[in-house]
Amino acid sequence: MTETSPADSGRIAFLGLGHMGEPMAVNLIKAGFDVVGFDVVPAAVGAARDAGVPCVDSALEAVAGAAVVLTMFPSGAILLDAYRGVGGPGLLESAPPNTLFLDCSTIDVAQAREAAEIALAAGHRSADAPVSGGVVGAEAGTLTFMMGAEETDLAHITPLLEVMGKKIVHCGGHGAGQAAKICNNMLLGISMIGAAEAFVLGEKLGLSNQALYDVISTSSGQCWAVTTNCPVPGPVPTSPANRDYVPGFAGALMAKDLGLALNALEHAGVAAQLGPLAARIYRKFADEGGAGRDFSGIITEIRGRSEG
Ligand code: NAD
Repeated sequence: MTETSPADSGRIAFLGLGHMGEPMAVNLIKAGFDVVGFDVVPAAVGAARDAGVPCVDSALEAVAGAAVVLTMFPSGAILLDAYRGVGGPGLLESAPPNTLFLDCSTIDVAQAREAAEIALAAGHRSADAPVSGGVVGAEAGTLTFMMGAEETDLAHITPLLEVMGKKIVHCGGHGAGQAAKICNNMLLGISMIGAAEAFVLGEKLGLSNQALYDVISTSSGQCWAVTTNCPVPGPVPTSPANRDYVPGFAGALMAKDLGLALNALEHAGVAAQLGPLAARIYRKFADEGGAGRDFSGIITEIRGRSEG
């Protein structure tokens, strides 16, 4: 742990108290940080207050005395609107000079770089630190943070992140955290489709799921999609397949992240084939009933198309 006290970080305005934000804010408070929360949805504010997060009535009130503005929003468009303000002053204008804007949402790489640019131009500091680990990791304080930040801002951010997570990877300058996150999740989406196709093929060829698992998990096809989040029930008791694909990591979030990966592939001029295909497959899965199911539920769609 870093040798600083929570008071050294100053007040944290925590904006976006949803599935992830609320438990992250609770962990900061439990560790002694001075946190004030806000969410645009009154029910989220109510739930956060019940969980022990002191909340105020507006985002501008929250950021007024803040040293750090931590955001956990659904999208980059929402983040940029909040920074700039829509029909009134935004967060950048309302925060004290040199505030550290720490965005933990998963957003487009280009939007993350734009957010950093406008924060710096307004006299503030900026870092992107998207997470992996889901709601379970947010509650347990075991998230992984992928950081895009200047070296000089790391010392300020690290004590907060160490409370909310167990692994912090400094990926590079502004936007690098988001870049790493979408590269990882693009690979995850592709590998889950591959794992699901392998298990459906195994079923068709008369293999038991356990026999195929025993081979893949100790052979060159081994991957997280098989050994931790196995798309068939049985071999990995904790995988969502054992509870009818209750997430876990929801299909809607995988579709969102693959959409961000698709933007980045196009932007960067990468002649990828599997990333765009995975994005299409998960968009369809989410649109046709899979949005609230674990992304490993893609196997039921593959099985369905393989009948007859
Ligand atoms: P969520 O929709 O539950 O929470 C987002 C919250 O932001 C909502 O409560 C919403 O009302 C609030 N909000 C929107 N605009 C706001 C504004 N202008 N000011 C204040 N609050 C505002 O989403 P979530 O599941 O908590 O995810 C948050 C982010 O984390 C997303 O970017 C998501 O992609 C990412 N993420 C989620 C998971 C997961 O498992 N849920 C895992 C990794 C990353």
